[in-house]
Amino acid sequence: MQTFNNYIGGEWVPAADVRPNVNPSDTADVIGLFPRSDAATVVSATAAARESARGWAHSSPQLRADILETAASEILGRATELGTLLAREEGKSLREAIGEATRAGQIFRFFSGEALRMGGENVASTRPGVFVDILRQPVGVIGVITPWNFPLAIPAWKIAPALAYGNTVVFKPAELVPGCAHAIVECLAKAGLPAGVLNLVMGQGSVIGDAISSTKDVDAVTFTGSTGVGRQVAQAAAARFAKVQLEMGGKNPLVVLADADLDVAVECAVQGSFYSTGQRCTASSRLIVEESIHDRFVEAVNTRLGKITVDDARSDTTDIGPVVDQRQLDIDLSYIELARKESGVEVHGGELLERATEGFYLQPALITGTRNDQRINREEVFGPVATVIPVSGYDEALAMANDTEFGLTAGICTTSLAHSQHFRANAEAGMVMVNLPTAGVDVHVPFGGSKGSSYGPKEQGTHARHFFTTTKTVYTQP
Ligand code: NAD
Repeated sequence: MQTFNNYIGGEWVPAADVRPNVNPSDTADVIGLFPRSDAATVVSATAAARESARGWAHSSPQLRADILETAASEILGRATELGTLLAREEGKSLREAIGEATRAGQIFRFFSGEALRMGGENVASTRPGVFVDILRQPVGVIGVITPWNFPLAIPAWKIAPALAYGNTVVFKPAELVPGCAHAIVECLAKAGLPAGVLNLVMGQGSVIGDAISSTKDVDAVTFTGSTGVGRQVAQAAAARFAKVQLEMGGKNPLVVLADADLDVAVECAVQGSFYSTGQRCTASSRLIVEESIHDRFVEAVNTRLGKITVDDARSDTTDIGPVVDQRQLDIDLSYIELARKESGVEVHGGELLERATEGFYLQPALITGTRNDQRINREEVFGPVATVIPVSGYDEALAMANDTEFGLTAGICTTSLAHSQHFRANAEAGMVMVNLPTAGVDVHVPFGGSKGSSYGPKEQGTHARHFFTTTKTVYTQP
């Protein structure tokens, strides 16, 4: 059994306590033993990041670009291996997992170019003979706290811009996916990143995550995870005036109008709600469907779900892998049970499945006849569970879509240009998809939500610089 280490100051450092990391498709398969670190390890990691901050901030952008490009090539070259690890560790189907590894490589490639494009502005002064320059500078030491559901892509879209723009990093991955975190850091270390620029501390959120959010030695915290934990991170960071960026939960609506192409709508619903085991912040968990096509839509989605293969994530014929762990499975089942108790509500699927190995296999659940005010439609489940909410027409559909505390993505399936234009202008979400699944985004454009789903500047693309850099205004009279 391999024991894995933290990465601090350019060294792989053993931890006193390690825990097994289990494959959700086969609980007898242990991937390795990974650190359960203590808060003192965060002190060492932030000290290493602080010590290397000045050198990295003033390094040539060409050096940063070259290192990120080398890491990108390494990740892309190892996409099948990394995807296989991801499938084994998190339970994402192999096809999707290799896609995610590829995406992580593409993100590093994009930000390799960004290192060379980090420029300031020059503005004419109102005073004669005075020059005004707006410099763009790194923030300093960035704390990166990530969830388990995109264990390669999310660390990539935080670490890559942090490094490209000249910051150093203390990275704390989710407890369930330390193997993917280790692999990414290994690729960057191999690419020649100087010691201390990127530090990896594995362990519990309540210990390591909290220490990163609270320590004055971390200048900014970028967090993706649940809304409850995000609130704690924001409070800890705000208490010491540190910059903070949060990407959190969703309860994303997909509106299906009567004039939609039914095949497109069914595909959007099935892909967006159930693929990646529904464990995506961008998943469509509320399908808001016009009454006149409701029955045809539900029947078609159920027929399509009947053809889906739920099995071991490592098989290339699997469409949907297992739920990530017993805790998440219990949450999914408790929401399905809750829905079953509501009058007028019908649950299609939602049963536990037996497969060749012991794992957390769950048949996707389509829950029909729901109302938007029921708990199943208010709270994020984060599993292969979607509801159908019938509505009388577009106006009611838009009102339902917006009637939520969240605002990450919102989708509409329609052939009406007027309705799609109205929806993109009025949907209260950071990302809107027309005739596309609510999940599935590009790597080079802003990512993030509104309302209770996000806080602070958006991630990804050139917009990432708003969080990972700060400006300094310089007045000069020669
Ligand atoms: P989580 O909030 O439980 O954990 C996220 C990270 O925070 C983990 O690394 C965890 O160890 C750490 N953490 C836990 N307690 C902490 C504390 N007190 N202080 C600091 N850090 C702490 O979330 P999860 O279960 O890993 O991921 C699922 C959630 O993530 C869902 O709500 C999902 O919607 C959300 N998510 C959002 C996005 C997005 O971009 N909006 C993307 C993916 C996932």
